[in-house]
Amino acid sequence: MAAANSSDFYAVLGVERDASAEQIKSAYRKAALQWHPDRNPNNKDEAEHNFRLAAEAYAVLSDPQKRPIYDRYGAAGLGSRGFDSGINATIFEEFQDILGDLFGIDDAMGGGRRRTGRGARGQRGADLRYDLTLTFEEAATGVSSKITLARNELCETCKGTGSKPGTGTTTCKTCAGRGQMAYSQGFFSITRTCPACQGAGQVIKDACLECRGQGRIERERTLEVGVPAGVDSGTRLRMQGQGEPGINGGPAGDLYIFLEVKEHAFFERRGSDLICEIPISFAQAALGAKIKVATLKGDEDLEIPEGTQSGQIFRKKAKGLPNPHGGRGDMYISIRVVVPAKVSREQRRMLEQLGQTMRVENKPAERNSTFFDKVKDIFG
Ligand SMILES: [Zn+2]
Ligand SMILES: [Zn+2]
Repeated sequence: MAAANSSDFYAVLGVERDASAEQIKSAYRKAALQWHPDRNPNNKDEAEHNFRLAAEAYAVLSDPQKRPIYDRYGAAGLGSRGFDSGINATIFEEFQDILGDLFGIDDAMGGGRRRTGRGARGQRGADLRYDLTLTFEEAATGVSSKITLARNELCETCKGTGSKPGTGTTTCKTCAGRGQMAYSQGFFSITRTCPACQGAGQVIKDACLECRGQGRIERERTLEVGVPAGVDSGTRLRMQGQGEPGINGGPAGDLYIFLEVKEHAFFERRGSDLICEIPISFAQAALGAKIKVATLKGDEDLEIPEGTQSGQIFRKKAKGLPNPHGGRGDMYISIRVVVPAKVSREQRRMLEQLGQTMRVENKPAERNSTFFDKVKDIFG
């Protein structure tokens, strides 16, 4: 669209002077889509300017009374004949008819006229959040947990209408039954859902005594949550339809369970893998040994080969946590060779003797080993 000459409405829409009403509508639709401020977040000012120009041009050229006047006398001619050459309220309703189905213009404009009156559209209920803390073992094995929460539910007495049974509704005075109110905001004339009737256009005559006309009542509910095995902190479970009830017959929202898993005394988690550190003596490391290591399913044998180094890592396949998407993680056992902090006189004598026979070059070690370089597979 050429937005350069803003006083020439035909140039603004990029159509010929003899363009048909259909061509003008189509050109406007194209321009409005191109320049809608929501579609140009990085270029809002220019977009808004062009968007407004296109709307002004369309307001005049689509009007069978204004167009001939504009053609003969220009925009100034409209003003002098008592016509508003700018945007009027109806342009946005037309605008919505043209664009409404293409993108979320309904919301951008605060609800359209199609939504007014008795046929107010049902609105989905709000989602709820519940924070659930699990022990490490519960997360590992899965658990069925009972949670209690307070939430709004539809009032059974009035079935959510808020009206005392047997009494009807009356036209809303705030919006005169239209269900919405118009405000001006910048160059937009924005319509918002009427706060008094929530868009229904009707208000209750006599309030339901049970819910005081709210149509909903806060209730405490206990629900059973099936937590699958292998979940971790940050996992979110969704319970469909367990949120707040919908408005005007809309569907209920969802309940999201946010999980927090407590840390384990000695297992560290990396996804579905487990890592733990096992101390062994210098003698066990040098000579090799068979030791017991704790896993989530009881003790397991681990063969320490001769000459095992501190920091060496052994892997026991499939002894980690279940992966919620299938399979099971591994368990990594990191060996720490314990150097005695205190030795007896007898031990000192033996160590000194040993020391004479062992020489280690005291120079910096190469630092190219990663976690996985140190991993030794132990199947079992
Ligand atoms: Zn009620
Ligand atoms: Zn109202």
